[in-house]
Amino acid sequence: MFRPAGPAALSSLRSAVADALAVAFPVRCAGCDRPDVDLCAPCAAELASDALERRLPGGLRVRSAVVFDGVAARVIRAFKEDGRTALASALGDVLREVWPPEWDAVPVPIPASASSMRRRGYAPVVLVCRRAGWRPYELLRVARPTADQRALGREERAVNLSGVMGVRGRAVARLAGRDVVLVDDVVTTGATLAEAARALAAAGIHVIGAVTIASTPLRGASSR
Ligand SMILES: [Zn+2]
Repeated sequence: MFRPAGPAALSSLRSAVADALAVAFPVRCAGCDRPDVDLCAPCAAELASDALERRLPGGLRVRSAVVFDGVAARVIRAFKEDGRTALASALGDVLREVWPPEWDAVPVPIPASASSMRRRGYAPVVLVCRRAGWRPYELLRVARPTADQRALGREERAVNLSGVMGVRGRAVARLAGRDVVLVDDVVTTGATLAEAARALAAAGIHVIGAVTIASTPLRGASSR
């Protein structure tokens, strides 16, 4: 007679599968290449939030956990570009630390473009929000494709992004008048966040501020 496996059997099966995968696909720390771990303790400690804050020219308050550099940059790239979704929990912890407790609002992720969704198969910012323990409201959509921001300067970025985002009407109804906080992985010039804030304001939605995992200066920038 068939009997379902108990929790102990399932757990030993799971660890056997994990062992087999570790042999087939050895993992290394995304921050320092140490073997057999997704993110080692010293690299996780490097990600502890410094709570950097700045205001964009339009007045939007942006809080970032860390500078986009060194371990933080390698971990974020491994998560976004190499599909290492196991890093989402650590990044979610980092993100949660920069949300000020007085911000009573709904997290709204910056949307991924259709091409990056096809390439990755997941939306990194949405996943990190979930791992932070939040329920992300996907209010924004990309209304038209843009040129790659990485090759552009500050003003060109703003022009490239102008009018690029729109708001999903049905999601607005579910918001029921609550304020929102924008969430992104990396802020560079802030042009993406400013465009998102513009689209939300045009739909009558109040944006309290923005939180990002990392913040990078424009020169040498490798993200938006
Ligand atoms: Zn490490």
